[in-house]
Amino acid sequence: MHEREMKQLRELYESGVFQKPFYSDRLHGIEDFDSYESFTKIPFMYKQDIRRTKPFERTATPPEEAYGFFSSSGTTGKKTFYLYSKTDKKVHEEFVKTYFTPLGIGPSDIGGVFAPVDTGVMAHTMMWQFTTMGCGYVNCPEPSPRNIIESIQDVPVTLIATRPSVVCSIIGNPEYERIARESSVRMMLMGGGFLTNGRRHLIEKAWGAECYGMFGMSEVFGPMAGECRAQDGYHYLDKYLMVEIVDPVTHGPLGPGEYGVAVYTTLWNKGFPLLRYWTDDYIAVDTSTCRCGSDLPRLRYKGRLADSLNINGSYVFPSMLEECLFTNGYFGEYRAVQGDRIRVILEKTDGFEMSGELKQKIDELFMSDVVIEYVDREQLLYDGHGIRFTKEDR
Ligand SMILES: [Zn+2]
Repeated sequence: MHEREMKQLRELYESGVFQKPFYSDRLHGIEDFDSYESFTKIPFMYKQDIRRTKPFERTATPPEEAYGFFSSSGTTGKKTFYLYSKTDKKVHEEFVKTYFTPLGIGPSDIGGVFAPVDTGVMAHTMMWQFTTMGCGYVNCPEPSPRNIIESIQDVPVTLIATRPSVVCSIIGNPEYERIARESSVRMMLMGGGFLTNGRRHLIEKAWGAECYGMFGMSEVFGPMAGECRAQDGYHYLDKYLMVEIVDPVTHGPLGPGEYGVAVYTTLWNKGFPLLRYWTDDYIAVDTSTCRCGSDLPRLRYKGRLADSLNINGSYVFPSMLEECLFTNGYFGEYRAVQGDRIRVILEKTDGFEMSGELKQKIDELFMSDVVIEYVDREQLLYDGHGIRFTKEDR
């Protein structure tokens, strides 16, 4: 099992990629990568391990090979920097071409990057993706509904890259929706979180454009997987990225199609190599041939484990509640709070009434009789970092 990956890791080791103590200390005694079994003895690399180190303590790449530095937002702890090398840029371009070429993206397109100013890495990588495909782009770091509409009126944007919540912000304003539908925008490329099919259909209808999900993390290099026209999982290049799916509790390996925590190992001479990096992302890997004809494996993403609620040993994610709501006529903001009972908090909206059928589906999702509450929209507005599921303080 994983013979190809072990061979690649052995070659990387021999070329000195793991020479810094940050890696060699982990590899103590298992440097020969002789089997997947011995590989699994390498301890997981956690975010807090990275926070304790500086970028040049985690790389064999000399400063002259640096393309730039990514950083975490710092919203949940110390700001952390990652070296992004010139080699990474080339590998990144290969990933981008892999998932953008089948979508027919090319030089005749103009990209609109509507990533909010606090999502610096996302904005940069979205611009780089467009230049990789030979597209021009316009950057709008303050994507208020009005700024989005003015940008697409003034620039013949054909592709929009941002978070789902940003393109949804014009929905409900009939004038903005009309301008969006009559604009040259033909495709939405959504990143920065999960994309449910319910929200996809809402966006596609409001904008009159196709909507595709992208997936990534700044520790790898931002976007690293994307949907094809089958919209059935995120294709990625497994020759560069080894994805292990492990049980969140036992840490034992899970098979294809099973959901667990994704653990990444990068397989090229990366500026910041990942060696069994525990992502906290709840993911399944589908290795079957896709309806698009591609044999590249696909990631399916439910959300971050930290954002889920553990109910009777099962993990329930915000994406699951959103899918349930959005496919049953509710399209507003939502939260869930776990206390003695689960409270699902929705915004007060005209014209929506919870059907018995939807209430039953929500109860089934949370495996209990859920309390439904309604509050003003302002109390629920999603800032993109906010946590939709919380536990009650006791
Ligand atoms: Zn496909």
